[in-house]
Amino acid sequence: MIPISEAIKIVLQQTPRLAEVELISLSDSRGRVLAEDIIADTDLPPFDRAQMDGYAVRASDVVNTPAQLRIVGESAAGAGWHHEMKTGEAVRIMTGAPVPTGADAVQQVELTQEIESGSVVEILNSVEAGRSIVRQADEIKSGETVLRAGEEISAAMIATLASFGYAQVKVGRRPRVAVMATGSELVDVDQKPARDQIRESNNYTIAAYASLSGAVVERLPLCGDDPDALKRQMTAASESCDVLITSGGVSMGVYDFTKAALKELGAEIFFERVSLRPGKPTVFGRLGKALVFGLPGNPVSVTVTFNLFARTALRAMQGATQTTLMKEQAVLARDVKGSADRESYLPAVLRTDEKGTLLANPLKWGGSSDFIAFAKATALINLPAGTRLINQGTPLTIVLLP
Ligand code: AMP
Ligand code: MG
Repeated sequence: MIPISEAIKIVLQQTPRLAEVELISLSDSRGRVLAEDIIADTDLPPFDRAQMDGYAVRASDVVNTPAQLRIVGESAAGAGWHHEMKTGEAVRIMTGAPVPTGADAVQQVELTQEIESGSVVEILNSVEAGRSIVRQADEIKSGETVLRAGEEISAAMIATLASFGYAQVKVGRRPRVAVMATGSELVDVDQKPARDQIRESNNYTIAAYASLSGAVVERLPLCGDDPDALKRQMTAASESCDVLITSGGVSMGVYDFTKAALKELGAEIFFERVSLRPGKPTVFGRLGKALVFGLPGNPVSVTVTFNLFARTALRAMQGATQTTLMKEQAVLARDVKGSADRESYLPAVLRTDEKGTLLANPLKWGGSSDFIAFAKATALINLPAGTRLINQGTPLTIVLLP
């Protein structure tokens, strides 16, 4: 049994970064991992820009108010007034428009009043030089790196990519994942389970999380607890995918054949027991060129082990800098039991109390098969090994579920 940190280290050591880089359209890029640094190709703003609708003025002309200035032109967004503005003059200006040379402040329209049928403006309040102007290159200078290769493209980054002309962007290739549920009790979701059967859910769960990790997913046919069928399907999958993720059949039961099948096929096994609750029998290896994760069958164990291990590999394959789940510190909202011999990752809901403290409330759940309780989880609480009762109010590390 190896510690979780060790298992994650092994995953990162054994996971190759996919060589291929794709050039994709900006509109399809959210969630993908940048394979190039993003460089500003212009200053931002590209010119001194008005931040308000109003009048471009010289601050020294409006020290004593009200001050009357002659309106000599108009600068609109996309159609600037490109002359020298002299003392005693003002230019009507709109948000986003270039500030004319000679002007050093913008007074907002609410503090002005046009008179003499629009040829003169009365500035009602003085402004200091620089007011409501963003200077050229104040936000970014042309040539600066604004995003780095390895960052995942979020919706918040799209404006940056668009503004610097990245109509197409280089990203890591999506890993191809095959998911394979094993167990003779399983029927697909569109079937009515007969006696002794249950509907399978793991393939769908893994596919959902894998797609959140940037992978493309193929669901393989359900596989019964039959060593020959397991070997046949695993061999075929390993030839067409980058990562094969199985669930079920890795514990100590008489019909748990996944690990044996992998070994008989000559797979290299990197680990097969992790000090983790839930998810101790997780297997990680390589079959041919494909990485293989043999996850336990219980639905909650699947979510925990997928996100700790398989997700890390899928992110590393795409060249992501952040491969593991985001960590935070939170305070335990009620007493919870740890495990004597293993680290735990327990499902929890987060909330913030009146003082602004982040609280992690462990779900009341019935163990690793309780996917109904798990449905509310937004985070996992990490408890160290050897902890029995942990009291409400204890600060702990949590990881955020994607
Ligand atoms: P196993 O790891 O194969 O011993 O399975 C542990 C438990 O998880 C058993 O109760 C299985 O019926 C259940 N299980 C295994 N695979 C799936 C699946 N794909 N969907 C839902 N439950 C499963
Ligand atoms: Mg089974």
